[in-house]
Amino acid sequence: MPVKLLIPTALLRYADGVDEIEVQAATVKEALEQLADGHPEIKRHLFGADGELRHYVNVYVGTEDMRHLDGIATVLAEGAEVTIVPSIAGGVGVLRDDFESVTLSKEEMLRYSRHLIMPEVAVAGQKKLKAARVLCIGAGGLGSPLTMYLAAAGVGTIGIVDFDVVDYTNLQRQIIHGTEDVGRLKLHSAIDSLKSINPFVNVIGFEERFTSENALDIVKDFDIVIDGTDNFPTRYLVNDACVLMGKPNVYGSIFRFEGQASVFWAEKGPCYRCLYPEPPPPGMVPSCAEGGVLGILPGEIGIIQATEAIKLILGIGDPLVGRLLLFNALKMSWRELKLRKDPSCPLCGDNPTITELIDYEQFCGILPPSVEAPGQSLSKWEMSVVELKASMDRGEKPFVLDVREPYEREIANIPDTILIPMNEVPNRLNEIPRDREVILQCRSGQRSMDILEYLRTQGYTELKNLKGGVLAWSDEIDPEVAQY
Ligand SMILES: [Zn+2]
Repeated sequence: MPVKLLIPTALLRYADGVDEIEVQAATVKEALEQLADGHPEIKRHLFGADGELRHYVNVYVGTEDMRHLDGIATVLAEGAEVTIVPSIAGGVGVLRDDFESVTLSKEEMLRYSRHLIMPEVAVAGQKKLKAARVLCIGAGGLGSPLTMYLAAAGVGTIGIVDFDVVDYTNLQRQIIHGTEDVGRLKLHSAIDSLKSINPFVNVIGFEERFTSENALDIVKDFDIVIDGTDNFPTRYLVNDACVLMGKPNVYGSIFRFEGQASVFWAEKGPCYRCLYPEPPPPGMVPSCAEGGVLGILPGEIGIIQATEAIKLILGIGDPLVGRLLLFNALKMSWRELKLRKDPSCPLCGDNPTITELIDYEQFCGILPPSVEAPGQSLSKWEMSVVELKASMDRGEKPFVLDVREPYEREIANIPDTILIPMNEVPNRLNEIPRDREVILQCRSGQRSMDILEYLRTQGYTELKNLKGGVLAWSDEIDPEVAQY
């Protein structure tokens, strides 16, 4: 009976450019064989020498992965649509049709000579790299190594979105910035470094926060987006913008000794929401600033991301589409999980309910800030270290809750405070009084503000956030207290 075979872009050149072919077949096997018979090049891509379907070729019948049906023996109804989804060489790439018009100077030939002598790259591949446009969200831990390698490799255009300033505590891992860059915009420091590595690269800086308002406009001019963010609202925003614009999203995340990497590309596999439909509650997962990160870990994960981007540009190898790589630096182990596209994904599923960018702060459960109008130095939810010191000096014995980790108290501490690490707060509410004022304190005032928001949802009303945390205490009250 007549069924329709949908040919992926990667195989189009072997199918005379036809992306839909009608064949007469009763099973998936018959359909694929008929396709292969008419197109020997496709046959080579789909079937191994043993005649078996290659393991990296996914075949969907309608919206179902045939592996969840009867495999290659799946019976086809009349008019069924059979889609071939290759996940490997031959290849999954973001080929730009303008790459052949790119030229390489004699100087560039010399610079990239170790690429040019590899058949997998060669001159054609180097031209693809030069024609490619890669956008990196964030010039921090992940963005540092990955943009440096992309620049060195000759990726022609690198976009960077970042509005932050280099902080002294960034230098432990954000290797694109030097000691003399502290206080500069990360964007400026990153552009200088990349230009120094490779002056042939065109670096485009976006000195702004990546938001629902500007995301689509920024993403549209790039072939690949790399997620170098460290917070959930931006991570979902990057994912959603990529799905809506049809771009691959090279994902990486890091925490302490562990990292993750994948390539989310809705046209070829799952998206981030297929993996994590819901974000964790705000404040319950510490960021790098709060939980710490081994300085070299963003290097390891960032290099994986850069590798995936290069492979996508060259159209070689087996990309991380549909696979989640889990890295543990302490065990020095890699694990790989298969990721499936979720047919009920609200973004890339069969009946998407998300068709435009949303309010990601709200989606991630972040309450509107408690701070009042800008210009006011302290809101009704805040207390200054000077006020706290005065209260202590008056002998009022204020209840100050330190929500940091025990090892942080060994570095710096405010006297007469009580420790409950933020992750334990939900289970230790009985230790936090409801009949008197509770002053929340952490390193800089960020985590304690998150916990303040959380306690508000638990019915606490007498709350104050210690503005600036122990750092402010060190600055304004006791210079003997260390900064970290
Ligand atoms: Zn999805």
